[in-house]
Amino acid sequence: SPLTVAIDGPSGSGKSSVSRAVAQRLGLAYLDTGAMYRAATWWCLREGVNLADQEAVAAVVDTMPLTMALDPQSQVIRVDDIVITEAIRESGISLKVSQVATNLEVRAIMKREQQSIIRAERAGGFSQGRGIVAEGRDITTVIAPDANARILLTASEEARLARRATDVHGTADDASVAATREEVVARDARDSTVSQFMQASDGVVTIDSSELTFNQTVDAVLAAIQH
Ligand code: C5P
Repeated sequence: SPLTVAIDGPSGSGKSSVSRAVAQRLGLAYLDTGAMYRAATWWCLREGVNLADQEAVAAVVDTMPLTMALDPQSQVIRVDDIVITEAIRESGISLKVSQVATNLEVRAIMKREQQSIIRAERAGGFSQGRGIVAEGRDITTVIAPDANARILLTASEEARLARRATDVHGTADDASVAATREEVVARDARDSTVSQFMQASDGVVTIDSSELTFNQTVDAVLAAIQH
């Protein structure tokens, strides 16, 4: 029977790479919901919408011709025919994404789209009905509260900053950790109305990856799914 795995966590918790590896191991589709908010932000900027105009932003996001990648091994994200896989990772998007993600009408649109992708993967789709690992900030609570496994992946601020610094700057020396602190702590603060969804509600398994290697974290998630 199809499997839905919901994984939430903050930036730098390793949730994207861990979720991809878990999906690959289990033959499931992989949905990066953060990439959907990033794509929405990219699309609004391209359409020239004022991000403070909540109604205009929601209207534009509602008609965004987004194609999400569901293959954990090939994450190509497109709007229309434009490949935006790399563009949505740029700091210009990271700085603005919270403004789109805190728009409640946008969140309702994303909920509809994400639940429709999860339903499609349980019935067929890329995974041929095996199911999906969906990852983000509100998957265990809002998007898939009835998932077969619900996991909150946490890490100490120190571990999260070191990982982000390595991702973004290629090193975790003092200067890149300091630069990352500015970016991550500020984004967490802007996301605070989003993070209210990010709580370990009943039945959610919390895994702290601070002291775990990548492979140990993947194994811990797989063990939580088996239960
Ligand atoms: O995971 P990532 O850092 O790429 O997410 C980018 C942004 O998308 C977050 O900072 C947050 O504002 C938003 N987001 C969200 N809900 C999700 C996933 C991401 O609001 N489920």
